[in-house]
Amino acid sequence: MENVVIIGSGCAGWTAALYTGRANLNPLVLTGSQPGGLLTTTSIVENYPGFPEGIDGTELMMRLQKQAERFGARTRYGVTVTRVDFSSRPFKLWAEDELIEAKTVIIAAGASHRSLGLSNEKLLETKGVTSCATCDGALPMFRNKPLVVVGGGDSAAEEATYLTRFGSVVYLIHRRDTLRASKIMAERALGNPKVKPIWDTVVEDIDDVNKGLVTGVKLRNVKTGEQTDLPCAGVFVAIGHVPNTKIYEGQIEVAKDGYIVCKQGTYTSVPGVFAAGDCVDRVYRQAVTAAGMGCAAAIDAERYLAGLGA
Ligand code: NAP
Repeated sequence: MENVVIIGSGCAGWTAALYTGRANLNPLVLTGSQPGGLLTTTSIVENYPGFPEGIDGTELMMRLQKQAERFGARTRYGVTVTRVDFSSRPFKLWAEDELIEAKTVIIAAGASHRSLGLSNEKLLETKGVTSCATCDGALPMFRNKPLVVVGGGDSAAEEATYLTRFGSVVYLIHRRDTLRASKIMAERALGNPKVKPIWDTVVEDIDDVNKGLVTGVKLRNVKTGEQTDLPCAGVFVAIGHVPNTKIYEGQIEVAKDGYIVCKQGTYTSVPGVFAAGDCVDRVYRQAVTAAGMGCAAAIDAERYLAGLGA
């Protein structure tokens, strides 16, 4: 029987592990299929306090893990929770067929990349459509070729800037005429001569599934209705995220848009089940706020266990 099982290994998960570890609760971290979470798909993190020169996303996560393990956190790599039963205590979690029982659970399952929902998007995955410039940008198929980034937030601005290292030109396709991205990221992207913004425009289709690789996109200007074809070798989709909460629906309160509802601190609708980070937060969604929520969830779990006399 585990005191605390932490589902997820992003900033929220590791910080919860650090705090519950230091509280001698011997936490168990189930990393999920993407150990370190979405931050491992980013390049340099410049806004995590304490790193004036910035820090590589993967390195930051490895440091957080090391720090948590120093205080007794146990890590199960690549283990993904596929089903939960929070209807009675102890709480039950299944990682495929393996049953894990826990007195408390901290859900820090994060979020996944949102997709455009185009049929060719899925079919051309690994053939030029991707959600991760850091992971795939350097591939030979993208070198010195025109590339497309879709989106107008920090991710899109960051990916567009990063991809200028590899592509001949990077088209930034945004459905409005102003970026949502923070000022510094927007200026960095738009100030790069290789980044060409295409405003008020959506991607309607990706060519060419018949050839088995991306050759271009079909665009539509949402104001004029004009349709154009834009040749490119890569489509980098950076249009935000959806919380990884499907398996919790019906077990705890989950809002219509998929975010877990916490009413008081990190308490979910089931006492003893806590949630933190990108699976809860639709507002701030920063590495440092996720870490803060992970800390809060650990403290909530510790106090809850103390209240049980555990
Ligand atoms: P985001 O801020 O939610 O932005 C998503 C963008 O995609 C928006 O511009 C949105 O358009 C557009 N979009 C959404 N659905 C679309 C669709 N179906 N078709 C076309 N466009 C669509 O997501 P994000 O950029 O991934 O950022 C998420 C969070 O992570 C933010 O809080 C951000 O600050 C943070 N982040 C920080 C950094 C950093 O500081 N280094 C880097 C990356 C991300 P509208 O603008 O019209 O809504």
